[in-house]
Amino acid sequence: MSGILTYALHYEGAFNKNSLGAVSEGAKLANEIGGDAAVVVVGDPAELTDELCGTLGKYGAAKVYRANAPEGLGAPVVDVMAKVIADEGYAYALFGGGLLGFEIGAGLTARLNAGVTMEVTEVHAQDGKLVAKRPILQDSAVVDVDYVGEPGVIIGRLNAFDIKESGDGTAEVIDVDVELAEHSTRARMVQRGEQRGADVNIEDADILVAGGRGLGKKEGFDLCTELAGAFGGNSAVAATRAVVDAGWYPYSAQIGQTGKTVAPKLYLAAGISGAIQHKVGMQSAENIVAINKDSNAPIFEFSDLGIIGDLNKILPKLTEAVKAKKAS
Ligand SMILES: Cc1cc2nc3c(=O)[nH]c(=O)nc-3n(C[C@H](O)[C@H](O)[C@H](O)COP(=O)(O)OP(=O)(O)OC[C@H]3O[C@@H](n4cnc5c(N)ncnc54)[C@H](O)[C@@H]3O)c2cc1C
Repeated sequence: MSGILTYALHYEGAFNKNSLGAVSEGAKLANEIGGDAAVVVVGDPAELTDELCGTLGKYGAAKVYRANAPEGLGAPVVDVMAKVIADEGYAYALFGGGLLGFEIGAGLTARLNAGVTMEVTEVHAQDGKLVAKRPILQDSAVVDVDYVGEPGVIIGRLNAFDIKESGDGTAEVIDVDVELAEHSTRARMVQRGEQRGADVNIEDADILVAGGRGLGKKEGFDLCTELAGAFGGNSAVAATRAVVDAGWYPYSAQIGQTGKTVAPKLYLAAGISGAIQHKVGMQSAENIVAINKDSNAPIFEFSDLGIIGDLNKILPKLTEAVKAKKAS
């Protein structure tokens, strides 16, 4: 077995950013261990044109396997990837994380009786094989995981892999005929859409201003919205489960174990205690800034910058400072 197979999720004429990170990483690693860098795409061929699929070559993909099957659901993609791996013998399947990546990766692992590593933050080649790094014990240690058999399944943390343009944009597109398993036809997509906070998709935002119970009431979120508005551009508002359960902010903005996983450049947490169930959804942010009036709040243990004080005073001042900086 050789080479690496990834999966690219498509929506309205473009491939998802997290998928493109996995495609780039797969191409880099295939170069190191040998074999093709290939991508599976699943959906309506009228949308997944040769031209669109071919663009995956820009990210280093040599081959794109295209299957006409329902898009956006995990089980049909598992059928397609399992067939491609059985027919073509790819040594690893690599995913960029996110809910669908976890679902497909887990399904493929079970189907192929493969070894799997999840929440991976880095992958490197060693003696022609792949070794995945994954943090453990609440990120206090990192372990190296290798695979005793092939194929191996690697599931990254959301946005763990950078998007890199490396090829000439001419991946070979190969149509695959797959008979879906009976259980893969039991669910169907009723509607697809993007969840947006303000007018930015939370999972793609560069800056997230997140609010917790410390905001005191529903209207407290205005302070977060104003700050996100001052940052402008690719900024959005996020929330903890405590406040979405209280009806202060929509569920679509919930970050954490039972919400979304995000990895923005800046995560500003206002009035959030830092419970483990919240932490798992935002710990990959490049910079974490926390505002909390309790100096013993757990969130300070994993923040890059901590501000101890009343958010009702600090947030408006931050908003003014950001506006002044932008105007200067
Ligand atoms: C199975 C399970 C799944 C869960 N999934 C999730 C999940 O996906 N996401 C999630 O977020 N939670 C989740 N939770 C809940 C989680 O355990 C916490 O209860 C929740 O994250 C707490 O939210 P919070 O930080 O907003 O509130 P709190 O824990 O009440 O913290 C509020 C913070 O605000 C501070 N504060 C108060 N007033 C001010 C002020 N004026 N200025 C500054 N700071 C102030 C306080 O000091 C405190 O630290 C889950 C729980 C379980 C059991």
